[in-house]
Amino acid sequence: MKSDKLLLLCLTNTLMQTLVIALGGNAIMPKGKMTIASEFSNVQKAIQKIFPLVKNNHVIITHGNGPQVGNILIRVEAALGKAYPIPLSVAVAESEGELGYVIEQCLVNELSKKKIKKSVVSILTQVLVDKKDPSFKNPTKPVGPFYPKKEAEKMKKKGLHVIFEKTKGWRRVVPSPWPKKIIEAETIKAISRKAVVIAAGGGGIPVIYESGKYRGIDAVIDKDLASACLASSIKADLLLILTDVPFAYENFGKKNEKPIKKMTIKEAKHYIIEGHFAPGSMLPKVQAASEFAQTGGTAIITNPSNLKKALSGKAGTVIKK
Ligand code: ADP
Ligand code: MG
Repeated sequence: MKSDKLLLLCLTNTLMQTLVIALGGNAIMPKGKMTIASEFSNVQKAIQKIFPLVKNNHVIITHGNGPQVGNILIRVEAALGKAYPIPLSVAVAESEGELGYVIEQCLVNELSKKKIKKSVVSILTQVLVDKKDPSFKNPTKPVGPFYPKKEAEKMKKKGLHVIFEKTKGWRRVVPSPWPKKIIEAETIKAISRKAVVIAAGGGGIPVIYESGKYRGIDAVIDKDLASACLASSIKADLLLILTDVPFAYENFGKKNEKPIKKMTIKEAKHYIIEGHFAPGSMLPKVQAASEFAQTGGTAIITNPSNLKKALSGKAGTVIKK
């Protein structure tokens, strides 16, 4: 089916499409002070924007977890000696629990308000990574709080990796390996036929496979790449990456900045080589969109406010083969 037709069909009742909607941390968490109340109200706002899609399609929602997992790690540190510490993989699992609950409740309330009979379920998702992924030798993804130098020295002695971020202080960095496989993919797909599914939150819980067993590992998987991995493996029709910008831009932040309305995988590669997308933010989104497009799907990068326009081809960056 032509993809512009497919996009519009998502908004009508005529044909159920399978959609993976990735909610960025930026689309659900405002800058400034974080509270559970603000988390609820922001998720609520994001839900209203995606609701027309939830009604008519098989929907899987994925989400970021940066601020949540950072705060969990702060609590772990503050409670050392009083409560047992947890590894990063468990902190990611806890953040999936927190946001899964918040998103679930906001959606359930909205569905019941609109008298729509559909349930919502969140799935703790494990994501397989390769223990030989180069990122394990070169961790670059910052997580958790900032530390003074003295503390950073102690962390280094414990074998943790830290980096200095200008003016802010030292921060722990962890590997960000490439997602290989979503362990619960088949279940997620099956349940999405009956209910809205929340999955692969925060990029999923990173696990490796060793001596016939899965085991959690200290790393953080990019949520856009994990979303693309999920969307590809369940053969979704559309991957929607919602963030805080309406488009991916070329020459972002410069005088000659220009929105990219559509790109092929080949064009995306060129933009990447030319350095238009910042690593850790827009780059993984474009990589994720390209990975998914490779399997024949359509991906869109936009913000929640432009979603409706994007589905009728009037906003957003569309990536397809
Ligand atoms: P999210 O929390 O949604 O994953 P990120 O902060 O990781 O959001 O990524 C979105 C950000 O990417 C935008 O706010 C913008 O500052 C940044 N960005 C970097 N390069 C680009 C680009 N070429 N076009 C648009 N945004 C870009
Ligand atoms: Mg991001």
